[in-house]
Amino acid sequence: MTAITPLRDFVTRFTQLVEQEPPLDRALNEGSILLRKLVARDGWLPEAFARPNPERYSQYLLHADPLERFSVVSFVWAPGQTTPLHDHRVWGLIGVLRGREREQQFERDPDGHFKETGETFLEEGEVATLAPGRNDYHRVSNALSNKASVSIHVYGANIGAVSRATYDIETGAEKTFISGYSSDVVPNLWDRSLERSAA
Ligand code: FE
Repeated sequence: MTAITPLRDFVTRFTQLVEQEPPLDRALNEGSILLRKLVARDGWLPEAFARPNPERYSQYLLHADPLERFSVVSFVWAPGQTTPLHDHRVWGLIGVLRGREREQQFERDPDGHFKETGETFLEEGEVATLAPGRNDYHRVSNALSNKASVSIHVYGANIGAVSRATYDIETGAEKTFISGYSSDVVPNLWDRSLERSAA
């Protein structure tokens, strides 16, 4: 076993999961259990994918399913950083690996205006879920003022390539965006030489 093994195991199990029906409930229920296990301990995320950027929050791709059925991303918030109000349009899982996150949930009225319906603080090891038509609008912030927070997100698509939207909380005005990713590289899950030579 090497440091990256928990992430590779997670990717393998999640791939098996998305091959089963029905994908949404499987992802949310069984996927949450897998993610809770992944974020229950630290030490597997390479440092380059946990690095805060003082300019804006980072989203590092850790793995994209070759069929783009899911993607795994590390979100890194420096102190004080926050997302705009946004949607996802695919299911999502959020698990906190380090620090503490504040999630504000919103509902959209038929006239397009938003109202805040709840606020949750996610602690290390906790997992939250998102589903289109159920709870797809939120705003996420680092709840810590003195250090970075890191969370691991899983989405039901190659999330960096999904056309979705941010919203003005006051007016409801919608702005389309495609997030992309903060890095051009992904962690190497597949160098198994150490464990193979040990075996
Ligand atoms: Fe989000």
